Amino acid sequence: MKGLPSECAVYAVFGNPVKHSLSPLMHQAALDRMGLKAVYVPFCVTDLKEAVLGIRGLGIRGVSVTLPFKTAVMNYLDEIDEGARRIGAVNTIWNDQGRLKGTNTDWLGFVLSLQAHTEIRGRRFLVIGAGGAARGIVYGLIREGGHPVIINRTAAKAEALAREFGCSFLSGAEIHQAGADGLINTTPVGMAPHGEDSPWPGDRLHHFPVVMDIIYNPLQTRLLKEARTAGCLTISGLEMFIRQGAEQFKIWTGLEAPLSRMREVVLAQLTKDANR
Ligand code: NAP
Repeated sequence: MKGLPSECAVYAVFGNPVKHSLSPLMHQAALDRMGLKAVYVPFCVTDLKEAVLGIRGLGIRGVSVTLPFKTAVMNYLDEIDEGARRIGAVNTIWNDQGRLKGTNTDWLGFVLSLQAHTEIRGRRFLVIGAGGAARGIVYGLIREGGHPVIINRTAAKAEALAREFGCSFLSGAEIHQAGADGLINTTPVGMAPHGEDSPWPGDRLHHFPVVMDIIYNPLQTRLLKEARTAGCLTISGLEMFIRQGAEQFKIWTGLEAPLSRMREVVLAQLTKDANR
């Protein structure tokens, strides 16, 4: 094993802050379940360039990249795949025998979560938000043959994103006419500790057969609770988080990830946090 001081493989997450990241818990549980001699370590990064050099220097096999480094990290890698380049963000680094390869598994985690419940091809999805997460979601929907329609608080950003990806957008004033095969919240509205907020009027949710919130804390956001009451099929952001992690695991180890074990540990932690 090249560059490693022992037989133990090392994986990591780079972020700042990183204290609340659930990735170490999820990935360590997956590595242990598969019987791999490996550790997954959180690093609160203060100098990104030096941290990335450290991946090669220390022989770290793979790194999850989280806020605020998903875009900046692209400057320090040897290769970046097409998806990450289009999205403009890398959330996964794979150390392939000293070559640092960047990819993005957020979009795929999203697509797989949605496809577990509904068809994407040929369908229209209203995407609330036009930030970093929305970019991956719009990319994923288009790649799978879906038709995203973007709506955002700052209308100019919705328009710019729609133009970049060749899809449509709505202005806030059109919210009352909006209906589609699915509604996807990509904004932080409704995230703890502001669980009383929702990005969409509850009395207008029945226009959407499927409602997904990419927030996973709380697990059941106000949007999802109201959508369920309105008779919609609901999908929590937990699924996207687990599945983006499972794709990372597959890239790094070449093995299918133990999805249910990963879901089990993250769910237990989120439930524990919610009851505090
Ligand atoms: P971001 O780049 O800061 O974008 C935030 C978006 O939300 C922008 O479009 C912003 O609108 C909108 N927004 C923010 N506050 C709002 C408010 N009070 N009312 C209406 N719109 C508001 O953030 P991001 O990186 O895309 O992350 C967004 C959320 O996705 C976070 O909650 C994050 O935890 C979650 N996420 C989940 C996963 C997962 O695996 N489940 C993965 C990635 C991200 P403006 O343009 O008007 O500012």
